[in-house]
Amino acid sequence: MAVNEPLPGTSDLWEPETLDWITLENAARDVFHRYGYGELRTPIFERTDVFVRNLGNETDVVQKEMYTFEDRGGRSLTLRPEGTAGVIRAIAFKGLEQGEESRVFYFGPMFRGERPAAGRRRQFHQIGVEAVGNESPWMDAEVIAMLSQFLEHIGVTGGHVMVNSRGLPEDRPRVSQALKDYFSRFAGDMCEDCQRRLETNVWRMLDCKNPACHEIALGAPNIVDLLGDDSKMFFSKVCQGLKDLGVEFELAPRLVRGLDYYIHTVFEITHSGLGAQDALAGGGRYRITLPGGKKPVEGIGFAAGMERLLLARQSLGMVPPEVHEADVYVVSLGEEAVLPGLQLAQRLRENTACRVKADFSARSLKAQMRSANKCGAKVVLMQGSQELADGVVICRDMVAASQETLPVEQALAWAMAHC
Ligand code: AMP
Repeated sequence: MAVNEPLPGTSDLWEPETLDWITLENAARDVFHRYGYGELRTPIFERTDVFVRNLGNETDVVQKEMYTFEDRGGRSLTLRPEGTAGVIRAIAFKGLEQGEESRVFYFGPMFRGERPAAGRRRQFHQIGVEAVGNESPWMDAEVIAMLSQFLEHIGVTGGHVMVNSRGLPEDRPRVSQALKDYFSRFAGDMCEDCQRRLETNVWRMLDCKNPACHEIALGAPNIVDLLGDDSKMFFSKVCQGLKDLGVEFELAPRLVRGLDYYIHTVFEITHSGLGAQDALAGGGRYRITLPGGKKPVEGIGFAAGMERLLLARQSLGMVPPEVHEADVYVVSLGEEAVLPGLQLAQRLRENTACRVKADFSARSLKAQMRSANKCGAKVVLMQGSQELADGVVICRDMVAASQETLPVEQALAWAMAHC
């Protein structure tokens, strides 16, 4: 690895890519605000316990993927592997009155020690949403509709919305037993992880990516069929809500998602433009006891991978916008022209959104013009001692390769009109 290369699974982002990221973030703000969600920013590291408590010990994220370290005071800290746990902690810290709701969205980097691959990073970024304190199935339908609207807003068409239900905790022993009965017949043919899961987390055997395990899982009992009446009713309302809100979706009987805290609705959106790592976004309803809280609260949320959203956009032919380092380049010939050149640049910046670069080098005309070209400038403003004495500026249109000499005020107006 070259000395300045970023670590595997991490990358440096430069313009114009960063502009694409801003586009995604702004689209998310725009759409989520329409649904009454507010932006929340939580710390990038938390006490390890925040994640272990919320995500559950038996999850891949907690067992294999967390970047955990001890700080100088001997506390165990973890770089956040996902957003929900920190959001829940923040909501608990702020306090959520009985019957009160909190609806938030967030963006930011997440960290997982996974094997890097196309679309799988160690530092990746998520846009996520959490609605805590609402127990209605219509909420689930609205959240999934909001995610669909966001995808539409950023031009990501062709996503597959897949939905399943895990039911309520009281359904769990019945479902677990049925799954155990089924999978124990095939355990010898399944991967090591699944053999362990048979005892620790049999639900995860349904969505193992190992081809042999997947084949076996295809014959497993359907979770929804095994759920109690309340869970079935809840799920049928979610599906009805999705239909009535015009969201196309498929039932995905083997979708359980990685985390233990989910109840009722779980969902994922995949996109064929992504290759092997085809999940664009995933989420579900959860029931948790807020730290310090007495009664459990329910929430629903999702997270979408920003790198994957951008990959999906690329697969649909959307590329980052073309940008120039500068629209206007101010060439100053001779030391005495440098400060007036800087003032010209400053006035433009105060009056336009153009990107303006002033050259302070007092190099030759040829050298400064070369830099102007390299920046992709559409306009060059030039002053030497003669122009300063006459109160004029040479205005060069780099696209038309023509130029004219104008008084300072007119030159500024000309530059604004041409950049
Ligand atoms: P998860 O919390 O694992 O369901 O992740 C939610 C979304 O984040 C996924 O659907 C992906 O789009 C994205 N994601 C998860 N892990 C990674 C990763 N290692 N690299 C890039 N994107 C990821």
